[in-house]
Amino acid sequence: MVNVLKEATNFTQLLNTAEQVRLENLGNIVYLRGLIEFSNYCSQDCYYCGIRKSNHRLKRYHLTKEEIINLAHIAYKNGYQSIALQAGEISSEKEVNFLADLIKEIKDITPPDSLSLGITLSTGELSYQQYKKLRDAGAHRYLLRIETSNEDLFTSIHPPPQSFKKRLECLYALKDLDYQVGTGVMVGLPQQTYEDLANDLLFFQEFGIDMIGLGPYIPHAATPLAIKGVNENMDSYTSTLKMLALTRIIMPDINIVASTALQTINPLGLEAGIKAGANIVMPVLTPEAVRGKYSLYNNKSYTPLIELANRIANINYEVGLWTLGDSPYYFFRTGLQNT
Ligand code: SAH
Repeated sequence: MVNVLKEATNFTQLLNTAEQVRLENLGNIVYLRGLIEFSNYCSQDCYYCGIRKSNHRLKRYHLTKEEIINLAHIAYKNGYQSIALQAGEISSEKEVNFLADLIKEIKDITPPDSLSLGITLSTGELSYQQYKKLRDAGAHRYLLRIETSNEDLFTSIHPPPQSFKKRLECLYALKDLDYQVGTGVMVGLPQQTYEDLANDLLFFQEFGIDMIGLGPYIPHAATPLAIKGVNENMDSYTSTLKMLALTRIIMPDINIVASTALQTINPLGLEAGIKAGANIVMPVLTPEAVRGKYSLYNNKSYTPLIELANRIANINYEVGLWTLGDSPYYFFRTGLQNT
């Protein structure tokens, strides 16, 4: 795999194989997760991330429960059937309780005998009990990227108290609680090697991950890692596409996201990501007034839903509405029934 990642030859063939594997296993449907970035407060200080707690230049916001529920209604009315609630790292019990109440209310916005909205969470590292509270409230998917499976590299971009060990423990807790577990990495981090990327793929497979969200690392000017610039040995765009394709080939029935970061660094990133095997897109529902403040990296892209749908149709894929589009692999792995 290292050679496939490293070499420029057979790039098209790799992408074609991935597309073939995807069409055979999952058809041409692309599922939507309405992304609600409900707060940019963050208790951690990741060296690469624009919403890190030490970025004092950033104005912080937190949507109210009513605002979030309104957005969930919009998602439901448009047939998304799933939303993803994302924020900076939350730490207080009060915030966990807020989220648990919110999840219950979102579950109740749909009529009693209809399919309720699927809820994906992406709010970072929490305790087992906190993950349990949120699972019991009705969340059923969780995204927590490992960022890199190279422990030394992980340690160099996450100051204490964060640790690789803790991140892994969180992923295992989520698995134990029967969440559909999503992880992923950033591609093109300074000092990252092709060996690291190949190991990331093995990590996904060995862990038995249900969902993947991976994207290019994009420097953010107000972060310490920006000083190191980009990785001169790796083109983050093509490497991300290769990572998507290889992930799809080795894990044919998991859900894979065409990330916003991929769409940010290339105007055709959406199409390329889908054709490389991604079957999930997360249209941003965050209100325009605060969207710019959820600045994980510079110049984050935003594509209105109509445009997204047209672009997906133009490459002969279809948006899957009114259906959850859960990871088939999750049901295989757990033996649970796909309702
Ligand atoms: N706090 C939550 C969610 C917010 S960050 C969490 O950590 O899970 C979501 C993802 O954005 C991170 O996992 C990281 O992979 C990505 N990200 C952050 N900064 C980035 C950057 N500069 N370039 C590309 N991706 C970035």
